[in-house]
Amino acid sequence: MSKKKAVRVQRGAGAKKFKISDAKSGIVFVGNPVLRQKARLVKNIKAAQPLIRAMVKKLRAIQGAGLAAPQIGKSLRLFVVEVRRNDLFPHRSESGLFVVINPRIVRRSGTAQRGWEACFSIPGYIGEVLRHETITLEYTDAVGTKVTKKFSGYLARVMQHEYDHIEGHVYVDRMTDMHTFSTVENWGMFHLDA
Ligand SMILES: [Zn+2]
Repeated sequence: MSKKKAVRVQRGAGAKKFKISDAKSGIVFVGNPVLRQKARLVKNIKAAQPLIRAMVKKLRAIQGAGLAAPQIGKSLRLFVVEVRRNDLFPHRSESGLFVVINPRIVRRSGTAQRGWEACFSIPGYIGEVLRHETITLEYTDAVGTKVTKKFSGYLARVMQHEYDHIEGHVYVDRMTDMHTFSTVENWGMFHLDA
């Protein structure tokens, strides 16, 4: 299920391996209408537990930072986030696991920040996206507790990326400079240190 294709990337004198999930991973790719729908509220959190467990397992298998239910074909307002360093982003700050159910962004900071984003639903590509530096999310966690939490920096970026998925958006919709849109291989060669 978590079989991955390794792509060897030439970068300067060295070479680096980036993993890109393949079609067997169970991830829904862009072009599938489920990624363009506004997802439905999760009504029964207890009944959602097997789905949550499957999503956490999948997120770890693909070494992602976040995974939204529409990305595995479920049109539900649910996503999981756990930032770990991986081959693509070896220096990002790591986080604990967040299970985010029926979220609302209740506050956004005025400052927008540029950063690179990739998405398992758009495999093999990466682009620069402007995101709010800080957001406050209201959501329900996996045990049904109401949470209000402020996120900033890279974690805020991941939360906004995943929130977009449950609203039917993908990161390329948010790109303001399409000149940064790149294959992962070319990003490693031409943009990584830019
Ligand atoms: Zn995504």
